[in-house]
Amino acid sequence: MDSVTLAIDGGSPTRQTMLPYGRQAIDESDIAAVVKALRNDLLTTGPLVTEFEHTFAKSIGAAEAVAVSSGTAALHAAMFAIGISPGDEVIVPAMTFAATANSVVYCGGKPIFADVNPNTLLIDPIDVERKITPRTRAIIGVDYAGQPCDYVALRTLANQHGLQLVADACHAMGGKDSNQSVGTLADLNVFSLHPVKHITSGEGGLVSTDDIALAARMRLFRNHGITTDHQQRTKNGQWFYEMTELGFNYRITDFQCALGMSQLQKLEQWVNKRQYIAKLYDIAFASVEEVSPLLVRQGVFHAYHLYVIQLSTENLKVGRDQIFAAMRAEGIGVNVHYVPVHLHPYYKMHFNTRLGVCPVSEASYERILTLPMFPEMSRDDVFSVVSALTKIIGYYQK
Ligand SMILES: *Cc1c(COP(=O)(O)O)cnc(C)c1O
Repeated sequence: MDSVTLAIDGGSPTRQTMLPYGRQAIDESDIAAVVKALRNDLLTTGPLVTEFEHTFAKSIGAAEAVAVSSGTAALHAAMFAIGISPGDEVIVPAMTFAATANSVVYCGGKPIFADVNPNTLLIDPIDVERKITPRTRAIIGVDYAGQPCDYVALRTLANQHGLQLVADACHAMGGKDSNQSVGTLADLNVFSLHPVKHITSGEGGLVSTDDIALAARMRLFRNHGITTDHQQRTKNGQWFYEMTELGFNYRITDFQCALGMSQLQKLEQWVNKRQYIAKLYDIAFASVEEVSPLLVRQGVFHAYHLYVIQLSTENLKVGRDQIFAAMRAEGIGVNVHYVPVHLHPYYKMHFNTRLGVCPVSEASYERILTLPMFPEMSRDDVFSVVSALTKIIGYYQK
């Protein structure tokens, strides 16, 4: 081997400051929008919530959007709206954030883990079909890393078996499939407004749908299951209200919606920037045999929440964990998305899941690494990631 010394072995790091894997972009117009909202009479359940919902729904071409306090609350509201209850099974991919499956459990249902395609890490419709039983009620597709999964195939299965189709689109705001916007590809489409996601409201979530009845159920759910909110009661001069369902307080504030709306104006430009960064990575890694970026499906406009690579660890002297540690030592804030959900102790304990349930997800988990990706990354930031990774890969090559 040549004379490079990795930072992890005491060499000088590629970067002096840690580059995070994701980060929000807040400018003065965002700050002004929040400050303005704070001067309003209503800090929550006011007009900005409705305005944000309308603006977002219109931007993607959906009839309705419901804003809630987080992406997780949005998933929970979606499972409630379609009536998931004890005895029901919902098929989810193993390669996702735990919240996707947790939302099923919140409603008393049982998540059934489907495997993913080894090249895209998107839910595999063939494995979904294998896992359908008479108890299956819904499928949740996850737009892993930011490209829509195969909703055409999932829709066919859903129609054949009378299932609801839900999109966990938390990675894919601003994406498209065959020119159709993410947010209109499933019956209910869930988004997160967490700071690492495409646009942020601090915490927040959205569900888009063309089904007005489902939207109404989700609005009920975010407000304790109470049939009117306090604005409606004030307007009608009434005090009486009824709770018809067991809901939660999953409301989002008006100043969060002001931030969300201000950020939404920049979404398109940010997705373009993410695609540009992805292109730089793609070009750089085309000649690095040990690094395989995920494949992009035909006809997809990728929103690139994440840039995920798979390492050919069979050609390296070390595994992913050592590469991860070496990258961190170089000042590159790599991450791993995700531990397959069925391997979490909670699911092993309560749902009797185990190794072998989703072999592709399990094998990919050993090889994946998420590289930094956010709109304010500079070209030099991108090149520092490439330079650190190629140095490390070169050093550990067999
Ligand atoms: C971020 C995320 C969520 C949860 O969103 P929160 O806003 O953090 O609650 C759910 N599913 C996926 C795939 C996510 O990436």
